[in-house]
Amino acid sequence: LSSRASAILRPLDIPLSGEIAGAYDGSWKGSGDILESVCPSTGEIIARIRTASPSELHETLDKTRDAYKHLRALPAPRRGEILRQIRESIASKREALGALVSLEMGKIRTEGVGEVQEFVDICDSAVGLSRMMNGRVVNSERPGHSILEVPNPLGVVGVISAFNFPVAVYGWNFALSFAAGNATLWKPSPTTPLCAIAVTKLIARVLEANDVPGAAASLVVGGSDIGEAIVQASEVDLVSFTGSEKVGREVGRAVQSRFGKTILELGGNNAAVVMPDADLSLAVPAIGFGAIGTAGQRCTSTRRLYVHRSISDKVLRALSGLYSAISPGDPLESTTLLGPLHSKTAVNTYVTALTSLRASGAEILSGGDDLEPLPAPLATGNYVKPVIAIPRTHDPLKEPWNKELFVPILNVAIFDHLEDAINWNNAVPQGLSSSLWTRDIRNVGKWIGPSGSDAGIVNVNVGTSGAEIGAAFGGNKVHKCLSQSTGWGRESGGDAWKQYVRWSACTINFSDNAPLAQGVNFSI
Ligand code: NAD
Repeated sequence: LSSRASAILRPLDIPLSGEIAGAYDGSWKGSGDILESVCPSTGEIIARIRTASPSELHETLDKTRDAYKHLRALPAPRRGEILRQIRESIASKREALGALVSLEMGKIRTEGVGEVQEFVDICDSAVGLSRMMNGRVVNSERPGHSILEVPNPLGVVGVISAFNFPVAVYGWNFALSFAAGNATLWKPSPTTPLCAIAVTKLIARVLEANDVPGAAASLVVGGSDIGEAIVQASEVDLVSFTGSEKVGREVGRAVQSRFGKTILELGGNNAAVVMPDADLSLAVPAIGFGAIGTAGQRCTSTRRLYVHRSISDKVLRALSGLYSAISPGDPLESTTLLGPLHSKTAVNTYVTALTSLRASGAEILSGGDDLEPLPAPLATGNYVKPVIAIPRTHDPLKEPWNKELFVPILNVAIFDHLEDAINWNNAVPQGLSSSLWTRDIRNVGKWIGPSGSDAGIVNVNVGTSGAEIGAAFGGNKVHKCLSQSTGWGRESGGDAWKQYVRWSACTINFSDNAPLAQGVNFSI
């Protein structure tokens, strides 16, 4: 193993040689297929992981179910106190875990650390919630009666996560699920297993110190077969899936067919709209970060840019200048702003998309030419140049506008009226994030109101990517002709916790009579 990789793995207690167990339910195991973790910056194989076999998965499901019975008996504030300790444990490894995210996923170090910070932040929020996950008392129409709505723990929450946020997305789910009294079973992306193993080790130590069964935070590293088995498992009450629209559709159908619950957080195809009165000193860098950050591999990455005709030359000149100042490099270096794509497959997607843009007559404003070879060991990494393109036509229902490609290609179109830009923003099947740049309060009113952006995230003078944990995160859509390709999930802040409980409606009779509701008379 390179010294670069071993320096990152050692402080996180990840073995530097041999095969690493990828399943945990109180003890570590894994006798399934071997999976390799490959560093996207260099192509180095950094670990071999033993995945869970089908029988181990079923054993883990049973233990996770038992752990739920233990957790539900703990008062919620006690669960909050354990979460506080988990928060401390994760925070104490903030830099080390952030570096591991960089090494294994490929995002730049500051984004890797930021992702760990999200885990810490959502733990803080869930610690507070553990004393505030309140039900309510409802007025009864019957004398001497009270109605309570009681939030009770659901059971087992299965979290299936994507490669691009290998720490934070689990954090969003785990913290709320645990505070609500559920046991959580995590199946991370098969290409970021080490991040999951490192996080689970930190959580497991805290659980053990508090006499909570380790299966309260179970882990099963594996591929789509393990994912499918979790989706089918009747032991899993809620499946929280983060990933592509294609897989999300299958997951949604399968869980619905057994009347399980889902949270679906799927792809985005996010637009930024720049009005003539926008402050370009804020807008241009934010659009640059939205489109280039994480090499275009955030669900909230800016993929479409709609610029008002009167300022289009100025905006595109400034943005092209920003692009030409950024070149890809080692994501572990503090000065690097653009890391590699996560996989060779993504590089192929990028090349195919660029070829097709060229073939259809798009103007390539930035990027698109060959990349100078990077020095070893980066020469074998998945680096590409980010692209700004002006496709020849704009039709939000057709390629390249209607697809999320998950590579750093920003497509640009020019508009004359805000209403057109809002219609274009809304016309695609995805509805995750959106951003308007303006100083005019009337534009803000149109954008955030009922006829404005129909995405789940509707920002003003803030880019499409980089959400805080406070507001619930997820997709919306009102366009009636299209499917909603982002899902309707809500995770993290806001009222998202309410999905991790089952609501018990309890009518209690304190009186000496037993009247029926609605005055129904059934006297015998
Ligand atoms: P993916 O859909 O390929 O994989 C996601 C997870 O699903 C992985 O753990 C994978 O092993 C598992 N999986 C694959 N097939 C399965 C099946 N049949 N049944 C159950 N599980 C299965 O996604 P990806 O390439 O890892 O991630 C990129 C996608 O994730 C993008 O579309 C991105 O927009 C989306 N994403 C969305 C959000 C959000 O909050 N909306 C956040 C991050 C990523």
